[in-house]
Amino acid sequence: MSIRLRLTLWYSGLLAAALVAFGILIYAIVYQNTMGSIKTRLMNEADKVYVGSRLNSAGDLKILIQTSNSLDVSIAAQAINYTKDPAGRIDMQTSNLESLGIKFSYPEFDGIKEGRYHSETLAGNPFVIFEKALVLPNNGAVIGLLQVGAYTGKEIGYLSQMRTILWIAGLASLVLAFVIGLFLARKALRPIEMVTEAAERVQSGSDLKLRIPGESQDEIGRLTRTLNHMLERVEKAYNVLEESNNAQRRFVSDASHELRTPLTTIRGNVDLLEKVWSETSFGAAQDEQEGAVAKPKLSLAEREELSREALHDISDEARRMSRLVNDLLSLARADAGYVVDKEPIDLLPLVEEVSRRAGFLPRKAEWVVGPFDALAGVRVVGNRDYLMQLLFIFIENGFKYTPDGEVRLEVYRQEDRIGLSVSDTGIGIAKADMPRIFDRFYRADESRGQTAGTGLGLSIAKWIADMHRASLDVQSRPEGGSRFTVWLPVDFSERPDYGIIEASVRPAVPDAEQS
Ligand code: ADP
Repeated sequence: MSIRLRLTLWYSGLLAAALVAFGILIYAIVYQNTMGSIKTRLMNEADKVYVGSRLNSAGDLKILIQTSNSLDVSIAAQAINYTKDPAGRIDMQTSNLESLGIKFSYPEFDGIKEGRYHSETLAGNPFVIFEKALVLPNNGAVIGLLQVGAYTGKEIGYLSQMRTILWIAGLASLVLAFVIGLFLARKALRPIEMVTEAAERVQSGSDLKLRIPGESQDEIGRLTRTLNHMLERVEKAYNVLEESNNAQRRFVSDASHELRTPLTTIRGNVDLLEKVWSETSFGAAQDEQEGAVAKPKLSLAEREELSREALHDISDEARRMSRLVNDLLSLARADAGYVVDKEPIDLLPLVEEVSRRAGFLPRKAEWVVGPFDALAGVRVVGNRDYLMQLLFIFIENGFKYTPDGEVRLEVYRQEDRIGLSVSDTGIGIAKADMPRIFDRFYRADESRGQTAGTGLGLSIAKWIADMHRASLDVQSRPEGGSRFTVWLPVDFSERPDYGIIEASVRPAVPDAEQS
């Protein structure tokens, strides 16, 4: 059963109960009032009846009643005499009773009760009758009964009319209330239906941008707002998921592409080596045996030269592949939510070690380091190996993209953070490339084909920086020169004084040339 019908039935049921109770109450009050006033009238009228008695010739007492002139015509009276017979006899009746030929029933002598009322229908005429004992004034003996009755046909008709009206009005208002209730329930539940329809549209459609209209201030509006907020969150979560899925797909496709290139080169070179050292391409003797086919034959020296080149290519590509696989591994770990172990570490020895080792890297540019005074006593919470890897990514890039000039490692202190900065005087980064250099596999046009690289270094650097709650700052000029700075939060948990004193040793990082 629908909520609408249930609501209406409840509502109509309650209304019916209220109407019945109300009708009964009204009827009871009117009945009581009507009958009460008749009874009071009867009592008053009984007082106005003059009662007399006389003895007839046989010594029999006869009761006489005489109504006053003001007696209502609808009032009839009758006197019952018990002096002769305990069953009683009617001694006198008012003329209206006599003319109708009816008599009120009366009790036996013992049954006389003072001020008793009873109702009776005589010849189809309803009466309410008041009975009062007739007493001899001299000795107080009860000699008879005075019955004063009122014709109640009008009142009973009026009351039955009222009952009919109450029934009809009650039923009519119940039917009306049911219909109106059904309509109101439908109207009240319409917004819920709309919300449901809109939610179904959202659920069945593919457009997550759909929202449920009508955010009113009532309860339904609150429901709509809540659902819309929920949809917003679902849309956001879906977009994030979609984006990450796309990124993952791109990553897998780029990674396989990048892995295929060196593999193709390696396979090509291995094929070449096979061919070069195969029987058919061997020396002049064989050539004579096979006849005059014009196939170029290679001398031993040529084969050795070709083999050396092929082996060199294979070794280069194998190195490239191994670097690529290592980088992919780091990023796969990052994607899997790998969290690096961190501990408080002294930065000065770490930076000195990096600067020492970087001196051995293949390079054309000059390697300039320091001074590192700002690092004295500065500790950060981090992972030594990963921080070194991050600095090496910057430094190797610096060397790669600086054909001549210099690559410099410097440190800067700014209040509660320390900046490790690698700057170069190399080819620089175009403004358009800036937002994308941290993307996986992204390599600026200038770098492609010119320098070896995977386009993964800076993505790894960014992940390491994120792991250390550090920020990365890149400044570059398209005409040449770049600066990569990682800002690490200083760890004050131990030896807090050092860092602050040393803060003044170095100036803050120079203004960005372009970033
Ligand atoms: P890779 O160096 O292997 O190509 P990276 O992720 O380390 O990959 O760098 C992404 C791109 O950013 C590089 O291809 C290069 O175009 C640009 N880039 C990075 N560092 C520098 C730099 N010091 N000078 C100029 N361009 C740079």
